Amino acid sequence: MRELPSWLRVFELPMPATLGAVNTYLVKGPQGLGLIDTGMDDVNSRKELLGLLKKEGVDPESIEQVICTHHHPDHCGIGKTLQGFGARVLMSEPDAESLALFLSRPEMDRQRATFFGRHDVPDEFCDRVTSMFPFFRKLQESFVPDDSLSDMQIVNMGGIELEVMLTPGHTRGHICLIQRDEDLIFTGDHIIPGDATHVSMREEVHGTDPLGKFVRSLERVRDIGSMVGFGGHGEPMPDISLRADQLVRHHRARIERVARTLGDEPRKAFDLSEDALGGRNKVFARWLAMSQTLAYLAHLVTREEAVEVTMDKGVGYRRS
Ligand SMILES: [Zn+2]
Repeated sequence: MRELPSWLRVFELPMPATLGAVNTYLVKGPQGLGLIDTGMDDVNSRKELLGLLKKEGVDPESIEQVICTHHHPDHCGIGKTLQGFGARVLMSEPDAESLALFLSRPEMDRQRATFFGRHDVPDEFCDRVTSMFPFFRKLQESFVPDDSLSDMQIVNMGGIELEVMLTPGHTRGHICLIQRDEDLIFTGDHIIPGDATHVSMREEVHGTDPLGKFVRSLERVRDIGSMVGFGGHGEPMPDISLRADQLVRHHRARIERVARTLGDEPRKAFDLSEDALGGRNKVFARWLAMSQTLAYLAHLVTREEAVEVTMDKGVGYRRS
């Protein structure tokens, strides 16, 4: 791996419970300072960020611009604090909408209840998932971004040019940022090393066929050629094109795997997720497995390889 550009610092910020760590990037441009992603609204994460900025001789009030790759709390959790220091916080329009939805508790709860009903999820599981949400909401400050970013827009961050690439899939409006002088790309959670990124599906939040969009977004990054990738988690990726290609193949294989679990009799997504993505016992992992299985099922419906069927309670899926 070649050396980091002189203007770039990588900060790894802790996350609470067993959530691991998230990367935040400080851009020390010749004309000013910026941050890519923020970390969560968590006391240790905030302390670490302020400590690392101090070590770099950076007064938080001198940060002019913050770009969030997407709306998840580990990537924009302290947007309000940074606005308070005087920074402009930017993200894509679809993710600004998703953030507003996440922060609006009654609407989120109503939509989740509709979703559980539609897929006839067992009551006990619904209650356990619902009880996790206050914890997640605490990790996200309530704020409205100052402006939105769109595909192919060039942003000048302290004299460093960043090109926005809209990469929907992980979220509806996820963005990557390309820096062409140094042949590098910030990939947020679109592409990370290690495990494949999670793609979930709740109709109201993720729209139709998020998995299809995600694979197309992976192909788009694959086609930019060899660049160093800086993801939202983990070490830098020496060749983002190779990594994107690996993930395209991984997801195609999984699409086939989910397709093979379908038979002539319709089954509910909750039950299918057990076979399709392996038994996951912890509530959060099981919840992710189910919403991810639904992303694959919706994709198979789009490809006319699966059919959604109305059952006595909720909907199920069978092969077409
Ligand atoms: Zn994320």
